[in-house]
Amino acid sequence: MATNRTFTMIKPDAVESGHIGAILNDICAAGFKIVALKYTKLSAEKAGEFYAVHKERPFYGELVEFMSRGPIVAAILEKENAVEAFRTLIGATNPANAAEGTIRKKYAKSIGENAVHGSDSDENAAIEGAFHFAGTEIFG
Ligand code: GDP
Repeated sequence: MATNRTFTMIKPDAVESGHIGAILNDICAAGFKIVALKYTKLSAEKAGEFYAVHKERPFYGELVEFMSRGPIVAAILEKENAVEAFRTLIGATNPANAAEGTIRKKYAKSIGENAVHGSDSDENAAIEGAFHFAGTEIFG
C-alpha cells in the first residue's frame, strides 16, 4: 500500500538561481504539507552515499560533484499517494522532456542539473528521509 510521505531536495542549481521560495510555493500549492525542512550542504562523501545506487553509471562523479557544490534544501512531504503525486509535480528527469508547468520544466537547466529530487518509491522515501532527518526533526 502506498504511504503518504515522500522526500525531496531542492538541488544546488535551483538554490544558486534563487528558486527556493518559488519551488516551496509550488510544492505547497500542489497540496503537499511540509513535515520536515532543512537548509544544509552535502559533503562529497554524503552525496556519494545518497546516490550510491548510481555508482556504476557514467555520470556518477559529475552527480556527486554537482550535489556537493553548494547548499540544498531537504524536506519530507506529506500528501495522499505522495511519491507518485510528487513525481508528477516535478516532471521527467530531463527537463527537455518534462511536461509544461512541472517544477523541472520551470526551473531545471539540464538532465544533470535538474532542480529537484523526488523519491522513486515508498521504500526509498523512508530511507532518504531518515538519511537527512532525525525523528525529532519530523513534525507529522
Ligand atoms: P530521477 O529519479 O528523475 O532523479 O532520475 P535518476 O534516478 O535516473 O537519476 C538521478 C539523478 O542523476 C538525476 O536527477 C540527475 O540529477 C542525475 N542524472 C541522471 N541522468 C544523468 C545524465 O545523463 N547525466 C548527468 N550529468 N546526470 C544525470
